[in-house]
Amino acid sequence: MKMTNPGGSCAAPVNLSFIIGHLSFIISVFSLKLMPRVLLLLPTTTYRASDFLAAAERMNVNVVAASEKPNVMASKHPEVLLTLDFRDPEAAAGTVREFHKRYPIDAVIPVDDDTAVVAATVGSALALKHNSIESARAARNKHIFVELLHRHGLPAPRYRLFSTTEDPEKAAQVVSYPCILKPLFLSASRGVIRADDPPAFTAAWRRILKILEDPEVAARGGEAANQLLVEEFIPGQEVALEGMLEKGELRVLAIFDKPDPLEGPFFEETIYITPSRHPEFHQSQIAGCVASAAAAIGLREGPIHAELRFNENGIWIIEMAARSIGGLCSRTLRFGTGLSLEELILRHALNLEIDHIQREQRAAGVMMIPIPGAGILREIQGLEAARAVPGIEAVTISVPLDQELVPLPEGSSYLGFIFSRADTPALAEAALRAAHRQLHFVIEPKDL
Ligand code: ADP
Repeated sequence: MKMTNPGGSCAAPVNLSFIIGHLSFIISVFSLKLMPRVLLLLPTTTYRASDFLAAAERMNVNVVAASEKPNVMASKHPEVLLTLDFRDPEAAAGTVREFHKRYPIDAVIPVDDDTAVVAATVGSALALKHNSIESARAARNKHIFVELLHRHGLPAPRYRLFSTTEDPEKAAQVVSYPCILKPLFLSASRGVIRADDPPAFTAAWRRILKILEDPEVAARGGEAANQLLVEEFIPGQEVALEGMLEKGELRVLAIFDKPDPLEGPFFEETIYITPSRHPEFHQSQIAGCVASAAAAIGLREGPIHAELRFNENGIWIIEMAARSIGGLCSRTLRFGTGLSLEELILRHALNLEIDHIQREQRAAGVMMIPIPGAGILREIQGLEAARAVPGIEAVTISVPLDQELVPLPEGSSYLGFIFSRADTPALAEAALRAAHRQLHFVIEPKDL
């Protein structure tokens, strides 16, 4: 099976039996009570389901799990399972409007990129807390996003948009180097390639076209699958900002340093560490940039995840998504007396107070375990030793044995996640690296 990950920087397929297990619990305990009801938009490929369902369970909130594939349990539990066409936001909103007449919904949450526009459309149809549909679209489309940043005078890479029908040899002559080629709508760095000269440019172009020709990818992208964005390469260090918007005001929940250099040609994420070790004034500049970018594209409510680069010439916004951090990475964050990021998101969506809830002070880190090579994953060695490294909280493998591993730029999944917590960011980072050194993945070439 080819692993794809449309939904976030570190996602993996959702486990439906897990959802049903959780939902049955919620049904049995709370169905007779008047609890708020939250609609979670859960693409089948997301890995975010378990953390959101656990948060809902802890908060005694009723959940409606909406997915794009029909579920056999739906007829038995029509009040908690819904099938929506995520590719058609208007149709999805129509279905939810009907559902809402019988089972009123208090909030809608898109757990991943792919459902942000649907959430905005549903939120608007039901008059729930939501972002405008245009802003959700802008965050979803890298061309619209970068164009809006430029229009508002914000620091973003220079860019050029090409049609996939253009001649790559000619396109290679009109761009400057080094540059980045990227699809407009994929995530987790899928299809993002650096080119340093015309031959690398044409090779990258053809490689991206192959990804875009995949029927499932093409259908998801629609018109955007016929275009290619080329940006100037911004050198420098990268950080990610996790934030929450409330009536257009940005609250910074965490800034993550990415201590591994991301130079390309592919951009596999590895380590995220928070709190950031960059100077305070730098961190405020980063926050200011993100707030301006959110305002520029019109995002006003809910979680945002942004990626920025900075160097001696300033700060550049590379990406912003109207969702929380991908995969299991949110597990690095704890708030107040132990609230998860998902609980915070649910609280915000349900208009519960979150202003005074702060992130815990300890340093934390996550490593999205890089894929060492293509092939079939046959064995994982050293798991116990990795888990025993001081400061390591968990090592979670998200790919079953005997599954095919597809590295970037074609694939977009990670082998799993290593989590650490320590007194300082340096110790949290060292623990991740020490744990990773213990792991060995036995990968068999596919055609053996
Ligand atoms: P995705 O949404 O798939 O993660 P991004 O546009 O965020 O795609 O690109 C993924 C990564 O590629 C970024 O986090 C960054 O490291 C690198 N990257 C993307 N665009 C640029 C750029 N213009 N200059 C330098 N690095 C870039």
